[in-house]
Amino acid sequence: MSIRMSNPRSWLRTVAGAFVLGGLVLSPGLPGAESSTGSAVPNIVILFADDLGYGDLACYGHPSIRTPNLDRMAAEGMRFTQFYAAASVCTPSRAGLMTGRYPIRSGMCSNTRRVLFPNSEGGLPAGEITIAEVLKARNYATLAIGKWHLGHHPQYLPTRNGFDHYLGIPYSNDMDRTADSPRGRQAFLEPKSEYWNLPLIRDGEEIERSPDQTQLTRRYTEEAVKFIQGGGKQPFFIYLAYSFPHVPLFASDAFLGKSLRGLYGDVVEELDWSVGRILAALRDAGLEQNTLVFFTSDNGPWLTQFEQGGSAGLLREGKGSTWEGGMREPAIAWWPGTIQPGGISRDLACTLDLLPTAADLAGATIPRDRVIDGVSLVPLLKGTGPSSRESFFYYRGQQLYAVRKGPYKAHFITKSAYGRDPAVTHEPPALYQLENDPSEQYDVATAHPEILVDIQQEVERHKATLVPAPSQLD
Ligand code: MG
Repeated sequence: MSIRMSNPRSWLRTVAGAFVLGGLVLSPGLPGAESSTGSAVPNIVILFADDLGYGDLACYGHPSIRTPNLDRMAAEGMRFTQFYAAASVCTPSRAGLMTGRYPIRSGMCSNTRRVLFPNSEGGLPAGEITIAEVLKARNYATLAIGKWHLGHHPQYLPTRNGFDHYLGIPYSNDMDRTADSPRGRQAFLEPKSEYWNLPLIRDGEEIERSPDQTQLTRRYTEEAVKFIQGGGKQPFFIYLAYSFPHVPLFASDAFLGKSLRGLYGDVVEELDWSVGRILAALRDAGLEQNTLVFFTSDNGPWLTQFEQGGSAGLLREGKGSTWEGGMREPAIAWWPGTIQPGGISRDLACTLDLLPTAADLAGATIPRDRVIDGVSLVPLLKGTGPSSRESFFYYRGQQLYAVRKGPYKAHFITKSAYGRDPAVTHEPPALYQLENDPSEQYDVATAHPEILVDIQQEVERHKATLVPAPSQLD
């Protein structure tokens, strides 16, 4: 699964001029540049929810939240049932998506502080190569909107990581409370924007403090739509990372009190509106046949927020844990004319695969001087072949807790998502057959010692490629 490249700095050379790739000579990313498949390069849009659970969309079985736009997107595109986030909490998950590498390789994870906080000094190291940088080298116009959470100091912002422009809050919307805020969860029960001292940043400048959070989804959406409408001849990449449905929950007046599922449902229904608005803007601009849109979430539902947290459906546990509910996500790919409508993929895939997929579509080379853990999903999206991913590693902080290979998942360590319960080490590992037992209820380790041996070998191969980076989060 890992692709190990042996030609240091070759990626940087490709940025400078003409490309020679495996016998193919590619023009240096001018408009109309062709990918290795011979067609014009597509626009790429990633829509990334925050803390949305596997069971929270109507097209994933939620009985009362209405998501007609995401349901339509799935009906016109491809819906994944075994798609994973790179980690079970925000910062490492986003680092994995942006770099195509398990966060243990970039230092964007920690056993002690699980995400970046407003008083953190660190961020995504400058040596990491993001999806935006890969696409920038192919002349894409690039825009980041929303929650970044890969470092809020100037040197770590999106505009230093391959994005031409940025509008958003650089970390979680529950961070940095003001003196007026009620303590603990009390602030979430009747949230007010002034309880949080959040900066809203445009490019590298703070433009507001404590922005009205009821307007965030709308403003993020308008920013994306304006960019689509103003598009020139360049292909573009939009990364829109919503601030919701992470708590505190806020919806605009048009959605507040409208859903059957309380404030959480209102917020998800507004996200659904946003997705519909963006797909409509692409259609109106005549770009739908030349744009891949990918929707997913950074981690599972925050179950300790009770009714303010989402649902992982039939999956066990939620955000923060390496049980399936913490990391398996709703995921929908849409690209009319290229992706067959109405498909359901049960293949193994994850957010690490988005960088190689984007590179493949753009005719860009992926970085060769480092291990990239993702694989291109282009054959799967185009219906020409299955996902080549066979395994997936579940990290909690810097520790490997579980490994999936094929339908089997071995847990070496389990721990509740939050709270002070000690971690439990499993000797032998607990083993679940996820396709037969998606809720991880029936340990079949004693019946399948050969599977445990096979997974152990997978772990040894993985560990041989690992040079853990110093943590940026501690
Ligand atoms: Mg999150």
